[in-house]
Amino acid sequence: MLNGDGLRVVLWLSGCTHNCYKCQNPQTHNPSSGILFDEKAEEELFSELGKEYISGLTLTGGDPLHENNLDEVLNLVNKIRLLLPTKTIWLYSGYKFTDFFDVPIWRASEIKNNIKRKEIISMCDVMVDGKYIDKLRDVSLHWRGSSNQRVIDVKQTLQKGGIVLWAT
Ligand code: SF4
Repeated sequence: MLNGDGLRVVLWLSGCTHNCYKCQNPQTHNPSSGILFDEKAEEELFSELGKEYISGLTLTGGDPLHENNLDEVLNLVNKIRLLLPTKTIWLYSGYKFTDFFDVPIWRASEIKNNIKRKEIISMCDVMVDGKYIDKLRDVSLHWRGSSNQRVIDVKQTLQKGGIVLWAT
């Protein structure tokens, strides 16, 4: 209930390079930490996600957009869109939405991974973006820890070409 709209299934992914001061989940930073997301885990996830009272899936971590996670996460969001199209997908990342959309051409070395990141973000309903900044911590905020982070309505943002926030 604290990781997005409604009652949700939450998947924490390991791997994060953002090193936010006072991160709540430092145990997830090492890409080799955690439990293998195998077929059995995926079956369990889909079984929970299929329940009528579940609104959707939240991907968090760690960072679901860490380079080690991109192929698996891309497969997963594709599968959810195909098999459970009414469920919403929320994505938490230390990256900013604008790190991948409208990036200058000189960042060519990152383009391959960024194409995957853009595909993943485009298939989500919401992206909560940006690093956690402890001096901007505000416990009254919905679904985010610090006031620099934005709860972005991805579809509206892509349609309108400017950041649109998710209506709370
Ligand atoms: S992006 Fe998230 S998991 Fe990564 S260091 Fe920052 S708060 Fe922690």
